Amino acid sequence: MKRRKSEIHFLQWESPTGDAVRKDTDPRSMIIDVHVHIRSKPMLARALRQAEQLDMLLCLNSINLEGSSSPNFPSREFVSRCNDQTAQVAAAHPDRVIPMWYLNPAHGQFAVDELERRVKSHRGPQGVKLWTAVKANDPRADAVFATCAAYRLPVLQHTWLEVTGNLPGETDSFDMRAAALRHPNVNFFWGHASGDVEYTVKLAGGLPNIYLDIGGCEATNGYTEMLVKYVGAEHVVQGSDGTGRSFTSQLAKVYAADISPEEKENILYKNARAAFAQQPHSQTFFA
Ligand SMILES: [Zn+2]
Repeated sequence: MKRRKSEIHFLQWESPTGDAVRKDTDPRSMIIDVHVHIRSKPMLARALRQAEQLDMLLCLNSINLEGSSSPNFPSREFVSRCNDQTAQVAAAHPDRVIPMWYLNPAHGQFAVDELERRVKSHRGPQGVKLWTAVKANDPRADAVFATCAAYRLPVLQHTWLEVTGNLPGETDSFDMRAAALRHPNVNFFWGHASGDVEYTVKLAGGLPNIYLDIGGCEATNGYTEMLVKYVGAEHVVQGSDGTGRSFTSQLAKVYAADISPEEKENILYKNARAAFAQQPHSQTFFA
């Protein structure tokens, strides 16, 4: 994979305490953000500029069309048009974008066919994005997850724990644990670490196939430290929930965390890279 070194490279950045945040000079050590939405053309353009400045790879998904909101239960046509957007951006920015194909698992064979079509037409690392159409442990999602396992596609599953109750098809932390156990051959990016990390650390323990995505909540003291302490840095990944959230506010959760430089490297890129590593195009991409 050819890439230009940006002027501001994170390898040279230092933490607020003055310790080198990243010691190694591994050329493959580009930050990987597992959770970025296209949302709109101006927001995407800004995200791509920032990805260049910060030397980041964006795992990009689309769950809305230009000017539209995101339906909780998208139609077949809507999903395909979202993926057309993602495919277009991934083709235009092959060094910066890993496409995450959006699906509604309730579409059954259509969802499987849509995924296979996308996977076969993209020559690079790729994954899947699932949102609120059906819960991750719903049997209707089994065929999609079997396809993800066959192609070694990690799945960014939106997960949330709302005190007033989740949406009908929205995966909560309990559902996410059940899904990880139901599909042991699928690697999951556990979206937003469910928001409520105190529940999450209790439910995410002992699951080898999960990575907690830290994106989307406030950068509060102790947040990342709690995930690392109770679940382990090898199970946490950088995510921003951009383009709505800023990359820097979400990176602060790692850079300012009271954890070791090695733990920061795991979160910033090593774990995500490992999640994509078994795909045929990944070896040359990350070489
Ligand atoms: Zn999101």
